[in-house]
Amino acid sequence: MKGSSLNQSYHEYVIANGGQCLHCGVKLSKKNSNTEHIHDLALGGNNKSGNKVIMCKSCNSARNVTMQEYLGAPSYWRGFPGNWDRVKKYLLWNAVTVDHGHNSGEIYPEVHQIFESNMEQNNTRHSPPEFWYGRGDQSRVNRSINSGNTGLIIRFFDWFFGYNGKAELPNLTINIENNGHNQTEHNQSHSRNGNQNYPDVGEEFYIYILDFAKSFVGEIKVATFCNLFKDYLEENHIQSQSFREFAHSFGIPKRRSIVDVLGHYFSDTISCRLDTDGEIYLSYNSTEEE
Ligand SMILES: [Zn+2]
Repeated sequence: MKGSSLNQSYHEYVIANGGQCLHCGVKLSKKNSNTEHIHDLALGGNNKSGNKVIMCKSCNSARNVTMQEYLGAPSYWRGFPGNWDRVKKYLLWNAVTVDHGHNSGEIYPEVHQIFESNMEQNNTRHSPPEFWYGRGDQSRVNRSINSGNTGLIIRFFDWFFGYNGKAELPNLTINIENNGHNQTEHNQSHSRNGNQNYPDVGEEFYIYILDFAKSFVGEIKVATFCNLFKDYLEENHIQSQSFREFAHSFGIPKRRSIVDVLGHYFSDTISCRLDTDGEIYLSYNSTEEE
C-alpha cells in the first residue's frame, strides 16, 4: 500500500503547540519532522491517521533502519511464519513507544537496543520528552510513564520493598483479599535484594496484564482486580485461574502476592495506593490526559 502524510493542519497543529519528537525530544519544526507509519505498511499496516505519528526525520529514519536490521530486507511475507516472533516484537515495540513513550520500548530489548544504537549513529541526543503528540487521530498529548508524576507510587514501592536504603521498615501488615480468602502478608516475607525471585517473563504477560488494567477507570480494590481478572481470562479464552496462578504459569513463584508482582513488573504503569483504612487500591496510569 502506498502511504501518505498526516494531514497538513494536524502537522501544523503539533508544531504550533510545541510538539517534541517522542524519541529524542527535539522540538519539531516543519523542516525537521515528517510522518511515520506506526504499523509499517510493508508489514500490513494501514494508511489511516490513527496509524500515523509526527516525529523527527532522524528518528523516523532510525526506525526504518531498525526494521531492516531486525527483520532483514523485505518482502516480509516471504519469511512468514518463521519471522513472526520478530515481526510481532517489532510491531509491539512500535506501538508501545508511540503510546507510552520511548522508554517503554525497553520491554522489547532486542528492538530497543538496535534503535538506540541507530539514534547514536545519527548523533541524535537521547532525551525523551515528558509529553508528545501521539497518533494522528487523537489530537492530544501523551505523557511518559517514566518521566511523569509517578513519584508517589514509586516512593510507596521503594518503601514497601525496602529499596530506599533504610535498614528498618515499618512493621507493615497488608490484608489482600483474593478470591474470597483473606491473606495476610508481612513485609518480612518480601525479598529485599532485588530480582532474584523475579524471573524474566514473556511479553505476553505484560500484554495481558496491561490490556486488562487499561479497562479500569480510576481506582479499584485489589480484591476486585483479582475477581475481574478471572473473567478477563475467560473472555479471552484463557483457562480461568487466579492472578497468582496466571503469574505462576510465567514462572513467577506462587508466594509472590499480586502487589509484589505488580510492583516489580508494572511499577511504571499500575499504581498502588495504600489507603488509611489498610485497603490497597490499584489504578492504571493512563497516558490519556485532557
Ligand atoms: Zn527524534
